[in-house]
Order: sequence, then C-alpha cells, then structure tokens
Amino acid sequence: MNSKNLMDELESRPLCGDGAMGTLLMERGMKGGSCGMAWNTERPDDLMAIHKAYHTAGSRLITTNSFGGSRFMLDGHGRGDDVRDLNMAAARVARAVAGDDAWVLGDVGPCGDFLEPVGELTEDELRDAFRDQIGALIEGGADAVLVETMSDPGEMACGIEAAHSCDPDIPIIATYAFQKTPGGFRTMMGTSVEEAIRRALDAGAKIVGANCGSALDLDDYVALCGEIAAVAGSAKVIIQPNAGAPEQIDGRTVHPATPDQMAGTAGRLMDAGAHIIGGCCGTTPEHMAAIANRVAGRA
Ligand SMILES: [Zn+2]
Repeated sequence: MNSKNLMDELESRPLCGDGAMGTLLMERGMKGGSCGMAWNTERPDDLMAIHKAYHTAGSRLITTNSFGGSRFMLDGHGRGDDVRDLNMAAARVARAVAGDDAWVLGDVGPCGDFLEPVGELTEDELRDAFRDQIGALIEGGADAVLVETMSDPGEMACGIEAAHSCDPDIPIIATYAFQKTPGGFRTMMGTSVEEAIRRALDAGAKIVGANCGSALDLDDYVALCGEIAAVAGSAKVIIQPNAGAPEQIDGRTVHPATPDQMAGTAGRLMDAGAHIIGGCCGTTPEHMAAIANRVAGRA
C-alpha cells in the first residue's frame, strides 16, 4: 500500500487520475467481447506497460483492470470461479507500478444486472458478490476502491457498503455515468445528480463524481461538476470525462477531444470544484500527460 493516505493527500493538492484501459488492451490484441480480466494473469506484462504509460504521463491514481470483475460479469466468460485470482492479480500488477507516489484504485463496475424489483437480484446477493471482488482487490494491494459507471444508486450503495465491510477505513470513490436529458443530468435509471450523489455520500463514499456518460461534451462535464460539487459539501469531487462526445466516423466510434482541449477542461473542472481529474472512453496517456501538467500547476 501507499504509505500516505489518499484523503490526506487531497487536502493539499489536486491529483490526476488515469485514462481508458480497454482500448489500449485492444491495441495489444485483446478481442472485443473477450474476457479482459484474463489478461491480469495471462498477459501481466502488457497490462503493466499500460499502467506504466499512465504513471509516466503523471497519473497518480492507477486504476486496476477489474471493471468486469464481479462474479456476475465473470460468469459470462465462464470465469466465475476465478473472482479472487483475477482481482488479486489486477491489484498486484497495478501496485507494482504505482510505487509510493501513486495510489491504486481497486476498480468495480456495474454487475450487468438489475436489482429487485426491476430485476431479480437481491441487495444481499449483490453485496456478497462485490465483497468477494473488493476483498481480493484490497488483498492484492488496492489503496482505495473505485465504484464506477453506475446508473442505479441502489447498486452504488451495495458497492460502497461492500467496500466498507472489507475495510472500514479504506477511501471509497463513487462515480456515476450521467446523461443529458430535458430534465437535466440524470443516470440511465432516471436518477438526478442530487439524489445519486446523496445516496453515495450516505452510504459512506468520501469522493464522489462522474465518469463516462453518454454523449456529454466537455462543457457538459464542467456544468455537471458544478452540480456535483454543490451536493458534495466537504467530500472530494472526481470527474473522469470521455474525450468529448463520441462521433461516428466511417462506422467507428471516435472520441474527438485533443490532449490540449482536455487540459483546458481540466482547469475549468478544478475551478468548478473537482479535486481529481481522470479520463474515461477515448482518453490515452497523451491526454493524461496534458491533464497532469495542468493539475500540477494547481498543486
Ligand atoms: Zn467510459
């Protein structure tokens, strides 16, 4: 583990997160739809090279390759029995790169199913599955837990409670995917910014914010950041935007924002109350280097 506590560090300076993982794994040969978590044990050198590229770029939060690491998601690849091995390996690889000047975020994404009454999953089942995943991430060396890309505040709360039950002191970061609707920013489940963030804070998250989101442009993320900061109070705010709103070019999805544009947005996000700026879809080590430069200017 990093000897310094992430929350203490954030009292003195803003930090730069890291960027997209999936696209970089695909550049190294991962097939779409395959089990990206398998690379944690089968291709750790490739994974380490990606973490290193972000660390060298200035990312001080290194996110484990475990977005789809719950039993429910791994079951889809016939790897449901490997939750512990694959998540522990994800954290070990990230920890080896992070050293003592970066923090490892144990990454937890949505389970891919719906809680009752929309779906059939119970909160107890979901909490148990997240606890298995998060326990392995912490055992492998995660310094904090990132519950991300959530749409349902109920699922978010289960993730946060699971992290708490593994380690009552570990910093928990909670980010939702919002979209723009005529009624303001809402998650896919229709939850408002205020309700979503309050639920995460009530469950025990110490850092709250947004990542990904569909069709949000960089200005939208700045507006969203202001709304989140207004609800967050003394909690810290994290924004991990996509590299602009996706465009379809020759049948491919392209995120158009340049590193310079992202760096400019990082300045505006900090003005709007963000303490951590990272990246989501379409962001690369080049984007993060530009952002890290801007973030370091505020330290
Ligand atoms: Zn994304």
